Amino acid sequence: MGSITLKNVKKSFGGVTVIPDISLDIEDGQFVVFVGPSGCGKSTLLRLIAGLEDVSDGMIAIDGEDMTKTAPAQRKLSMVFQSYALYPHMSVRGNIAFPLKMEKAPKEKIDAAVNNAASILNLTDYLDRKPRQLSGGQRQRVAIGRAIVRQPKAFLFDEPLSNLDAALRVAMRLEISELHNKLKTTMVYVTHDQVEAMTMADKIVVLNAGRIEQYGSPLELYQRPANKFVAGFIGSPK
Ligand code: ADP
Ligand code: MG
Repeated sequence: MGSITLKNVKKSFGGVTVIPDISLDIEDGQFVVFVGPSGCGKSTLLRLIAGLEDVSDGMIAIDGEDMTKTAPAQRKLSMVFQSYALYPHMSVRGNIAFPLKMEKAPKEKIDAAVNNAASILNLTDYLDRKPRQLSGGQRQRVAIGRAIVRQPKAFLFDEPLSNLDAALRVAMRLEISELHNKLKTTMVYVTHDQVEAMTMADKIVVLNAGRIEQYGSPLELYQRPANKFVAGFIGSPK
């Protein structure tokens, strides 16, 4: 289970309001994309959900449980960043196992979880390599593997593909979509790339200056954009 609810969430840094007032319901199992121009507040919103930033006001619930004041580790969400942040001295196995080692999980559980993640991500033959011996796409898969072993209620992706070249980006989009089909876990995916949003999302949140311009399926946004901003951003005819 992994529904996410935001109620009147506000965020300011110093005196500057970045998120004036956002309410949003993300259903369990959905692939939801936050899209919008650079600086509109996508990462901030994701970090608020993750608990990496505190809300200035409002409420965040996961599976109906108020998590507004809960520490990131207890929210049971896994965040995947654009920089791979792998440990260079550790093998692929060590990198994927790391979160479970931190939790002091038993060795059998760790081995089973790592093998399962490696098989889902086609990394079985690479478990003994070091990150420097991997391609960019493989490194990104290791980062995702590290998220999978925690069996999170939801995955939070912040522009995970923006460091990859165009061809690899397209391939990884498909892989992440496939991963969602396999795991059926809620995924919240941040991007500034409209094509990525339109091709990957069950539902898209279009953000502009910290506000939601529209929340709907790719088809709804394309056929019935709420306003000129959405139409212009999605490239639909309005
Ligand atoms: P996006 O991810 O959509 O590019 P961000 O959420 O990173 O946008 O940033 C939204 C706004 O909040 C920007 O104006 C940014 O400068 C500001 N901001 C983000 N984090 C901080 C911070 N820690 N302190 C001050 N301002 C911040
Ligand atoms: Mg960002």
